[in-house]
Amino acid sequence: LMQLSVPLNFIGFVYREIRQGLTDIEQMFELLDVKAEVVDKPGAVDLKIQNGEIEFDNVHFAYDPQRPILKGISFKVPAGKTIAVVGPSGAGKSTISRLLYRFYDVQGGSVKIDGQDVRDVTQTSLRAVIGMVPQDTVLFNDTIAYNIRYGRPSATEAEVEQAAEIAQVGNFIRSLPEGFKTMVGERGLKLSGGEKQRVAIARTILKSPPILMLDEATSALDTGTEQEIQAALDEVAKNRTTLIIAHRLSTVINADEIIVLKDGEIAERGTHAELLEQKGLYERMWNRQREAVQAEAKLKEVRESD
Ligand code: ADP
Ligand code: MG
Repeated sequence: LMQLSVPLNFIGFVYREIRQGLTDIEQMFELLDVKAEVVDKPGAVDLKIQNGEIEFDNVHFAYDPQRPILKGISFKVPAGKTIAVVGPSGAGKSTISRLLYRFYDVQGGSVKIDGQDVRDVTQTSLRAVIGMVPQDTVLFNDTIAYNIRYGRPSATEAEVEQAAEIAQVGNFIRSLPEGFKTMVGERGLKLSGGEKQRVAIARTILKSPPILMLDEATSALDTGTEQEIQAALDEVAKNRTTLIIAHRLSTVINADEIIVLKDGEIAERGTHAELLEQKGLYERMWNRQREAVQAEAKLKEVRESD
């Protein structure tokens, strides 16, 4: 038995190492958004970016043919404008972002950038023009600086620090014992959802893409963190075509158009003021969130007076 335990331990060690290696590869794939099922078509050409206009034209999509997720979605994000997609959880909001990045192919209709179908262009050229801040950012097991610089590997140290500043995460990073050299990720310092998201925003600021795709974190953030993230997002969205998936409606008040998605269909659309006037789903969501914010504030008041 003793004789066996050594090799078994050793196998366990090797197994753990391989598993960690695989986790890294999986994370890398997630970061690079490499998906085997979507490949460049023969003779695919590079996307020619002009102004960065996005168009979803009668898009149909299902992960499982039995269960349609998007049922004929049409909207445009004009160059330089901000369009927000809101709606209940499971409505298909994040799916829209995955189709723009061509994680998956549509089953009907098309997704176009500056008039070019995303299926006709190389994935590399498509992904080069889109800055994606996903709902759950996966960080590399490396330093914070590395994770930010990933957006543009040629960036100088000063540029990395400036991006962190704009993303409202500079103070936090400097407060760490090893600053920008602090190891993060699974094997390093664990960052909160809001901190990881700001690192992803800093990365995107460095990348400086013509098109920005944001999927806000669902996890409840405290008001201070929310305001910091909002300031960071406003900064990076300036003068860029921006598609934002919003869970907190307070972040979309200024969007040029808000699309309310429900069960894979556009239930309502318009500006914040127009949607409130419609007194429909958006207005109900707005009131519910406002009550939640007020309740949170009241709770805080009570706690502080104790
Ligand atoms: P939202 O972002 O609005 O909450 P999603 O677009 O993430 O919604 O998902 C829409 C629906 O598709 C949900 O019911 C979800 O469970 C389902 N879904 C999401 N991703 C997958 C997947 N990879 N495979 C199968 N179903 C999925
Ligand atoms: Mg989502």
